[in-house]
Amino acid sequence: MAATNQADLPYRMRRLRKTPALRDLVRETHLSVKDLIYPIFTEENLDERVEISSMPGVYRETEKSLATRVKEAADLGIPAVILFGVSHHKDENGSDSFKATGLFARMIKIAKEAAPDISVIADVCFCEYTDHGHCGPIAEDGDVDNDATLINIGKQAVNAAKAGADIIAPSGMMDGTVAAIRAALDEAGFTEIPIMAYAAKFASTYYGPFRDAAGCALGKYDHVAKDRKTYQMDPANAREALREVELDIAEGADMVMVKPGLAYLDILAKTKDSFSLPTFSYHVSGEYAMLKAAAEKGWLEYEAVMMETLLSFKRAGADGILTYTALDAARILRNG
Ligand SMILES: [Zn+2]
Repeated sequence: MAATNQADLPYRMRRLRKTPALRDLVRETHLSVKDLIYPIFTEENLDERVEISSMPGVYRETEKSLATRVKEAADLGIPAVILFGVSHHKDENGSDSFKATGLFARMIKIAKEAAPDISVIADVCFCEYTDHGHCGPIAEDGDVDNDATLINIGKQAVNAAKAGADIIAPSGMMDGTVAAIRAALDEAGFTEIPIMAYAAKFASTYYGPFRDAAGCALGKYDHVAKDRKTYQMDPANAREALREVELDIAEGADMVMVKPGLAYLDILAKTKDSFSLPTFSYHVSGEYAMLKAAAEKGWLEYEAVMMETLLSFKRAGADGILTYTALDAARILRNG
C-alpha cells in the first residue's frame, strides 16, 4: 500500500482524544454512584464482624454492624443495598426465612431503620436458610422440588415486604417464581413492591467465594444433588437466556438481572437490546476475588481496573451493578 499523504486522510480519530476536556465532551458512557448496589452479608449470633478470607474488604457483618454498613452506603449516595443472611437456624425448607422474627426479616428491618431512604433489596431464595444448601426443598429424587419452592417463596416474599423491603429479588431460578411472588405480594396488599428478577442466572463457578461467605455450599448429604445445574443455566446458552428473561417479564418482573457479570456481558448486552426493562448485572464474588488477588500480588492496579470493569457493565447496557466494590467505587466517584 502506498504511503498515505497526510492531507489524504479522510478522518483523524485522534482529534477528539487530544485533551482531557475533549475526551470528557465525547465520552459515551458514564459511571455514577447511582449505578451501584451494595451486597451485604449478615450473620446472626456473631459478636464481631469477620472478614471473608476469599473476599478481602468484605465481611460477615453482625446485626449491629449491618446498620453501620447500610448507613455508610447511604451516606456515600449509594441508592440500594441487597441483603444476604448467614443463618444459624437452617432446616430442610429454610423456614426461618418465613418468620417475622427470623434473621431474614430482622436484616431488612435493621437496614430500613438505619437508612430509611435507601432502597433495601431482599434477596429472596432459600439456599442461605436450608440445611442442604439448595434453593428450595428437596424432592424424592434428590433434586429441588420446583412447585413446593413456589409455595414457600410466596411466604418469604410477603415476609420481606412486611419487614419493609423496597424491592424483592428472587435468585433461585425455579420456573414460575416471579408469577408466584407477584401473586403472593398482590394478595397480601403489596401491589406497589417491584420485583427484580435474577432472570438469567448461570450455574457458575464464579460464585465460589459467596458460597463460603453465606455458608451455603452443597455436598452435605449424599442423597441430594451436588450442584445447581437443573435450575441455574448452562453457561453455553445465550438464546435460552433471552427466553428466561422473556418469561420473567411475562410473569411480571419489573427489572431483570444477568449473573455473573464480566464473563456474561454478551448476555447483558443482548438482554438490554431485546427488552425495555431496567437491566442489572451482578459483578459476583469470584470476580471480586480475582481482582483483589491480582491487586494483592501487585499484578493489577485495584482502583483503576475496578473502575474500568464497572464502566464496562454500563457500556454493555447495565442500568445498575451489584458489586462488592460499591463502597470503594462510590468514594472514588465522589472524590473524582
Ligand atoms: Zn439460592
